[in-house]
Amino acid sequence: MKLVSERIRIGKERPTEVTQVMVGCALTFAVTAERFPQVCRIIGSVEGANVNGASGHAAIVRRRTRRPVGEIGCQLKGASQLAQAAIARHEGRIANVERQVVPMIKTIAGFDRIGEENAFAVLARAAELTPHFEAKGMDVINLGIGQPDFPTPEHIVEAAVKALRDGHHGYTPATGILPLREAVAQRTLDTTGVEVSPERVCIMPGGKVTMFAAILMMGEPGAEICYPDPGFPIYRSMIEFTGATPVPIPVREENGFAFSGEEALSLVNDKTRLIILNSPANPTGGVTPRAEIAKLVAGLEAFPNAVIMSDEIYDVMTYNDVEHVSLLQFPEIRDRLIVLNGWSKTWAMTGWRMGWSIWPDALFENVRKLAVNAWSCVNAPSQYAGIAAIEGPQDAVTDMMTAFDRRRKLVVERANTLPGVSCATPKGAFYAFPNISGTGRKAKELASELLEQQGVATIGGPDFGILGEGYIRLSYANSEDNISRALDRIATHLEG
Ligand code: PLP
Repeated sequence: MKLVSERIRIGKERPTEVTQVMVGCALTFAVTAERFPQVCRIIGSVEGANVNGASGHAAIVRRRTRRPVGEIGCQLKGASQLAQAAIARHEGRIANVERQVVPMIKTIAGFDRIGEENAFAVLARAAELTPHFEAKGMDVINLGIGQPDFPTPEHIVEAAVKALRDGHHGYTPATGILPLREAVAQRTLDTTGVEVSPERVCIMPGGKVTMFAAILMMGEPGAEICYPDPGFPIYRSMIEFTGATPVPIPVREENGFAFSGEEALSLVNDKTRLIILNSPANPTGGVTPRAEIAKLVAGLEAFPNAVIMSDEIYDVMTYNDVEHVSLLQFPEIRDRLIVLNGWSKTWAMTGWRMGWSIWPDALFENVRKLAVNAWSCVNAPSQYAGIAAIEGPQDAVTDMMTAFDRRRKLVVERANTLPGVSCATPKGAFYAFPNISGTGRKAKELASELLEQQGVATIGGPDFGILGEGYIRLSYANSEDNISRALDRIATHLEG
């Protein structure tokens, strides 16, 4: 029996004190005294509707209060007992129930709103399911997680080892060691033609941390933040965390999964604090052309206080000479532009937690102070590895892109043969975003079935935003053989 401890929250209220109920040692749940009757009803309905006493996970409740109560609970192990205990408690008959009053830790309300990245949950579930599939002589094929399946190039690893041997064990400046910031500035000049001062470069513990910092800096109740939908889920999660209003910028298949400059502009107003852009894009593989970006930038002249954060983490990952346009190439917004980039994707360094960002003068002190307060500095040996990555040979990057290109063609070709599926050719990154609406299936349901029944991990489009319904994301950061086998299994599933 699994011991579960969950807080049950109803509606938007935040309980201050909870009654913890234990049934034998099997299940624990906690709820405010005032809400007890309601919880009883819910558990009763769960009992009636779903529970058949069969196995399952004791997922009692979703933590996010904005979800309707109706979504609470399913396959509740021992729910029958739990319902009885709850009802007994409600009626004042405390039989077989050990009850304690415990203080409930109070956090800021942002934690009721913060989301997460489902790719990590899928990765964990894929690992959990592996023994089950192995017992059937199968493997789990992961087209879910967005990380290159290549190792970090050897010379980069060696640079980190050398840094450790050379005694780089201590703190560095909070914004990163100067030679690394200089290397980033030089690379920026090489890739965009734009000169930036190393003084405006901040080394971050991963690409994500730049969006965390930028959104934290600009978001608060009353402010609006525009972000791509479908897009990287952490944008919206962090916007909601700050209490700002998330304003989705549609990323449409009919536009080749580029955002429209005009449409984006129509969403900007005087309350807009931050506009988040991402090209090449996750999850769609779309690349926004210069003309669309130019339209947006021109219109932003009327909104001089809106900051722009351009997530360019896939900057070198485009195919067939499709141009990546950096927002840095628009001098008129440079004094309010944050550029997010990093090592994770280009040099296959997701686990190193290394990113960089370029900040406008007006915001640099804020990010420096945030670094001092939160992480002090990025770990020293990784920073030396970062120099080797930028300044060393780029053959491994080229080879990786050649492999991604082959896989991209394979995944698109195969996905287009699936019944009810059409798949646009991605122009960048390493994701395909096939349209599955012709299957008549809900995307998340389909993704879940593919994992549970076929051992193929994918991510349902709605995990990237409301406009993601009707799509699933396939990460082709996996071998051609695995991609082929995964697509065979998806075909079997859809045809069966
Ligand atoms: N931005 C985008 C668009 C991404 O897809 C990702 C990772 O998937 C990140 C940022 C975060 O990168 P990192 O792993 O370096 O935090």
